Amino acid sequence: MIQEHTIIIGAGPCGLAAAISLQRIGIKPLVIEKRNIVHSISQYPTYMSFFSTAERLEIGDIPFTTANDKPTRLEALNYYRTAAQRHNLRIQPFMTVQRITKTDNGFILDAVNQYDEPYQYEAKYVIVSTGYFDHPNMLGIPGEELPKVSHFFREAHPYTGLEVAIIGGSNSSIDAALELERVGARVTIIYRGEQYSKSIKPWVRPIIESKVENGHIKMLFSSRVEQIHNRTIEVSTPEGIINLDNDYVLALTGFHPDHEFLTTAGVTFEPEGHPTFNQETMESNVPGIYLAGVVVSRKEDANEIFIESGRFHGDKIAAHLKTLGEGNVTAHTE
Ligand SMILES: Cc1cc2nc3c(=O)[nH]c(=O)nc-3n(C[C@H](O)[C@H](O)[C@H](O)COP(=O)(O)OP(=O)(O)OC[C@H]3O[C@@H](n4cnc5c(N)ncnc54)[C@H](O)[C@@H]3O)c2cc1C
Repeated sequence: MIQEHTIIIGAGPCGLAAAISLQRIGIKPLVIEKRNIVHSISQYPTYMSFFSTAERLEIGDIPFTTANDKPTRLEALNYYRTAAQRHNLRIQPFMTVQRITKTDNGFILDAVNQYDEPYQYEAKYVIVSTGYFDHPNMLGIPGEELPKVSHFFREAHPYTGLEVAIIGGSNSSIDAALELERVGARVTIIYRGEQYSKSIKPWVRPIIESKVENGHIKMLFSSRVEQIHNRTIEVSTPEGIINLDNDYVLALTGFHPDHEFLTTAGVTFEPEGHPTFNQETMESNVPGIYLAGVVVSRKEDANEIFIESGRFHGDKIAAHLKTLGEGNVTAHTE
């Protein structure tokens, strides 16, 4: 059993920021990450640029600068890696926490490494910062399980010359549509909203509007895909059901936190779809389990919390731990 004072689950930007906040009050937490550091960002579209300016993505007072208007995925990977190194964060990569169990003294965490070898940790406090990127919102329609359907978009090149349907009208969908159109894919966006989403970056909106007006990208508003077949998709539109030729479906319909992981630890969920927590302290309904980052997002509005806001959750947790008399404690024993 490995004994820790505080364990942070998830080395995303918000988990790393929380680790730095705790170090500043004298708690040196262990960050357990199931893959590599900032794994979600490494899974983002290869050539993406953030919508935030570099400064608004900073953690731990490490300056983040870019020669461009907005930082790229590659710059962010470099930045967060460097920030973690500069702050000497204790990170255990490639270790998946499978279960959190409450005990009289705190919590036991059951985990496995990349070789499926079991590990057990004990900690007085746990900060769950697991994001939501592993759990796409499923469509629940026939054909969703076909190999041509993906909930993630990496890069456009493989889709050249093909019929691609994008489900969803958020910022990520529009970025993907524009990139796909540039490589010669025939793109149809199928969106349940009646008009363009407010989440589209203001500088991108005129570009997508003109592509749609000129017929370079097809946009179906107030529409939804009912069924996916090998070569076609069935779409209900305000004019009735239509069948479209289709090679690939990108269902970019957002993400949600891992409900099961949290509920087995005793954390409850609110009707809006987010875990129960105190906004001032970030403590969940289970005393000693805190939440940081996009894991606290509401189901219907996963975009209200992102790095810009979630990076400050650790400060609230550190402030609360101080009121409990924590801080300046021995980091860990093995
Ligand atoms: C294409 C795209 C563009 C974006 N652009 C911006 C932007 O411009 N500005 C902005 O502020 N936000 C942006 N976001 C949102 C932002 O990237 C996310 O909000 C951010 O990654 C959230 O950080 P996090 O630390 O809460 O979660 P994550 O970054 O998802 O980190 C969670 C970590 O927990 C790990 N993990 C999960 N479960 C376990 C487990 N059981 N055991 C161990 N580890 C586990 C995961 O592997 C992951 O590394 C964008 C998102 C996307 C998809």
